[in-house]
Amino acid sequence: MSDNLSMTSAHLTSNARTFRPTEPMPLRALLAVAIVLSNNAYAQAPAHRQLQQLVDAHSAQFIAASHQIWEYAELGYHEEKSSALLQRELEAAGFTLQSGVADEPTGFVASWGHGKPVIAILGEFDALPGLSQAAVPDRSPVVIAAPGHGCGHNLLGSGAALAAVAVKEYLEKNRMSGTLRYYGTPAEEGGSGKIYMVRAGLFRDVDVVLHWHPSNVNVVANGGALAVISAKFTFHGAAAHAALAPDRGRSALDAIMLMGNGIEFMREHVPSNTRIHYIITNGGAAVNIVPDTATMQLMARSPSNTTLDGIWSRIVKIAQGAALMTETTMEVKVDSTDANIVPNNPLAHLAQRDLEEVGGFRYTAEEQRFAAEIRKTLPPEAGAAESPETVLPLTPIDPNSPAASTDVGDVSWNVPTIGFGAATFAPGVAAHTWQATACAGMSIGQRGMLVAAKALALTAADLFADPKLVADAKADFDNRTNGKTYRSQTDDVIRFRAELPLPGRPPASTARGSPPVHPYASASTGRLTRSRINTPKTSSPSDIHWVIERSSNRDCSWLRKNSTMKRANP
Ligand SMILES: [Zn+2]
Ligand SMILES: [Zn+2]
Repeated sequence: MSDNLSMTSAHLTSNARTFRPTEPMPLRALLAVAIVLSNNAYAQAPAHRQLQQLVDAHSAQFIAASHQIWEYAELGYHEEKSSALLQRELEAAGFTLQSGVADEPTGFVASWGHGKPVIAILGEFDALPGLSQAAVPDRSPVVIAAPGHGCGHNLLGSGAALAAVAVKEYLEKNRMSGTLRYYGTPAEEGGSGKIYMVRAGLFRDVDVVLHWHPSNVNVVANGGALAVISAKFTFHGAAAHAALAPDRGRSALDAIMLMGNGIEFMREHVPSNTRIHYIITNGGAAVNIVPDTATMQLMARSPSNTTLDGIWSRIVKIAQGAALMTETTMEVKVDSTDANIVPNNPLAHLAQRDLEEVGGFRYTAEEQRFAAEIRKTLPPEAGAAESPETVLPLTPIDPNSPAASTDVGDVSWNVPTIGFGAATFAPGVAAHTWQATACAGMSIGQRGMLVAAKALALTAADLFADPKLVADAKADFDNRTNGKTYRSQTDDVIRFRAELPLPGRPPASTARGSPPVHPYASASTGRLTRSRINTPKTSSPSDIHWVIERSSNRDCSWLRKNSTMKRANP
C-alpha cells in the first residue's frame, strides 16, 4: 500500500514540475493541473523553486565550509574548529546560538523564529581515525594514519546548515511563523552525542526532525539502522609469575577468552541479522605474568531495540560465567548505545516527493573519470546499479539488508523523524573507506550535498506551510511508539563478583545434567590448563569425563572452592 501511495505522489509531482504556465495547454494537461491543484502540489511549486534558488545562492559558501571541515578532520568530541565554523555561519545568517549544550563542548543549537511548529535539522561534523586521504582516486593519505572524513560528515553538517539558512530566508521573505533549529551534534562516530542531547531534553518541544547522510544513492531512508550497544568488559584477577607460581594467579585474559568462546557458541542461537563483534584492547602486560587485568571492547547490534536487549543480557551472563570460571571479577561499562530508527510513513511520502522533485545530478566528464578511477580500486561487482542521476523509489526497509547504526535512532524514539541519503560517494564506494574520504573532499561529494540541502529545505518548508503534515507525522509516531519504552543504556555500569557456591543454588556437581567428575592426578607436570582438560572420545554427551592433571595433592584450595571439582579432590 505504501508503494502505491508513493507512486501517486511522484506522478503528481512530476506533473507539477513539467507544467509551464506560458505554454498552450491541451485538455489533458488542464485535467492534470486540476488534479495537482486539488493536492496542493501546484501551490507549492513556486515556493519550492524559491527554496532551491536560495540553496543555490548560498551553495558556494557552504561548499567552502564543507571543504574546510574536511581539512580539519576532527575526531568526535574534538570538533572544536568544525563546530565553531558552522556556528559562525549560522550566527551570521541570523540564528541565535546556544553553545556547549548537554555538557558537550562541541554541541550546539542554532535557532531562528518562534512559536509552532518547531522543525529541527540535524548536523554532524566528526571524522574517523586513520582515514586521512587526499581528494584523488588512489590511496594517498594527506597525513599517514591521521583522521579523515570517511563518513562524509563534513558534507552532512555543512549541507544541513545550508538547508537551514535557505529555509530561514524563505520563512522570512514569506512572513511565515514557526521555529527552525539546527542541532550541531558531536561525536556521531562512537560517541553518540545525540543521546546526551535527548537526555538534556533538547528535543522535547520539537515537532519534526529532519536529517540526511552521505550515500552513493539518492534515497529516502524510512527507518532502518541497527540498534547497537558498545561496551567495555574488564576482568580483574590476580597477577603471579606465570611459571614459578601460576597457581597463585587468576588470569583475567582467561576470562576474556572464555567469554569469547561463549559468544561464539551463542552466535548460532540468535536471530540471523544479529551482529556481534569484539576486540581485546588489553590482554595483559607481559607473557610471563598472569594477567590481572584484561579488557574486551564489544559491540552487539540488532534491527530492534527489544531484541538487542535480550541478546545483551545473554552476553552479560556469558561474561559473568567467565568470571565465575576463572575466579575473577568483572565490570561492564556501556560506552554508547544507538537505538534503531523509528519509521514515519507520512514524513517518508513527503520526503520522497520532495527528493524526486529535486532529482539527482549528472557527473561532469572530470567526475566521470574520477569515479572510473575509484571503481578500479573496488571489487568488480561493487555499485553496478548505483547512479547519482536517479532517485530510488520508496521501499519498506528490509531488516535483513546490510545496515550500520546511528544516534539519529535515539532522536527518532522521541520525535517524528525522517532522513535522506544523497549520492555523495561514487558508485560502489562504501562509507568508512579512504575512497569515501576522497569523494567527500571534491565536487562529487559537494554536488551530492546540494541535493540533500535542497530536499531538506523543501521538506522543512512544506512542514512549516501545512500543519496537517505535522499532525499526520505525530499521529504515525504515536501509533508506532505507543506502549513501548525508550531508554538508552549509555553509561550504565554492571559489576559482577562471583560468590561460590552460587547463593540459592545447589552445587553444580549435584545439579541435574552436570557432568560427573573423574579426577586424574599426574605425578609429573601439574598445570591446570585448557589443553589438559580433555573429554575422552569414548564419552557420550551425557557422560563427560573431566580429566584434570596436577603435580600433587598439595594446596588445591582454588579447586576446592569450585564446587564442580570439590568432590574430586582428596
Ligand atoms: Zn560513519
Ligand atoms: Zn556517518
